[in-house]
Amino acid sequence: MTADRSAGPRKAKIPASPGSPARPLGLNTDRPIRIGVSTCLLGEHVRFDGGHKRDAFLVETLGRYVEWVPVCPEVEAGFGTPRASMRLVRGDGDVRLVATQTGVDYTQRMRRFAVRRVAALAQHDLCGYVLKKSSPSCGMERVNIYGARGGPVARGRGLFAAELMQAYPHLPVEEEGRLSDPRVRENFIERVFAYGRLRALFGTQWTIGGLVAFHSAHQLQLMAHSPRMYADLGRVVAGAQAMRRAALRTLYKTQFMTGLEVMATPKRQVNVLQNILGYFSERLDRAAHRELVELIDEYGRSLVPLVVPLTLIRHYVRQFDIGYLRAQTYLEPHPQELMLPPYSCLPRAS
Ligand code: SF4
Repeated sequence: MTADRSAGPRKAKIPASPGSPARPLGLNTDRPIRIGVSTCLLGEHVRFDGGHKRDAFLVETLGRYVEWVPVCPEVEAGFGTPRASMRLVRGDGDVRLVATQTGVDYTQRMRRFAVRRVAALAQHDLCGYVLKKSSPSCGMERVNIYGARGGPVARGRGLFAAELMQAYPHLPVEEEGRLSDPRVRENFIERVFAYGRLRALFGTQWTIGGLVAFHSAHQLQLMAHSPRMYADLGRVVAGAQAMRRAALRTLYKTQFMTGLEVMATPKRQVNVLQNILGYFSERLDRAAHRELVELIDEYGRSLVPLVVPLTLIRHYVRQFDIGYLRAQTYLEPHPQELMLPPYSCLPRAS
């Protein structure tokens, strides 16, 4: 299987923080967004039966903005196509990968391959990974584990997926099945692009000043996800001078990505929007201010989608050239073309 196989035009770069000065702090970069993916999801005929599991959203929508790095662990480990179907089985105090019909044990072979392939993925600077659900090799969670007695228990993780997630604990990873949920999908895409910006920052000769500016640019985005993590990270940055650089980088990266994993809720979005509103209170005339207040209120009451007040806010940020807001990733966490639901549909109650 050839790596870096594309599926459609590849345009996405790690986006600038909106309106920020040219290439500050590693927030802007020409690096492409690369996402690892289970090969069968791109429509390749690599499944055990020679079939595929093409996912239209990945190929036709997300694929326009990212470079895929496809991996089919079973084909690349040499099992061939077509091949015997496999499943996870509990045995000898461990979970084994065995052929469903013959019981031949492929655990060691797959584990050795996974260690090697996952290490090699480091060269691709991945910003995320999409795995095929339920697969004994690729499944991220709730993969069936069969035992000697009774039915299967959906508590397993594919062997390749396990190695991947252990080696890159902060890498945004999702399954294609979960990505059909708009909130999960939005959260994943946000994390992918945030991870790209984080990698761009720490991939340079970064300075404390650069980290402070990075953190400042992500404040509103963090608040929409986790006010607690926003506060914790603020303390980390405030004490940055006293920390060893490596420890500081690890702590910031861990807490930043953990904070973004928390789902943004309509209630927290309203808090952020009202915070932004404060920047306009003396700049807008009464009617324009009231209009924005009403749009935020209507979003909070699920009458309009988030993209409605955000679009107006972006317009005012440009018009009044408010530096702090222009730098906020919250206003454009990823290419606007990817502002799919929930940005573009009515919010669910938090
Ligand atoms: S689920 Fe993973 S191992 Fe199975 S066909 Fe797809 S990419 Fe290959």
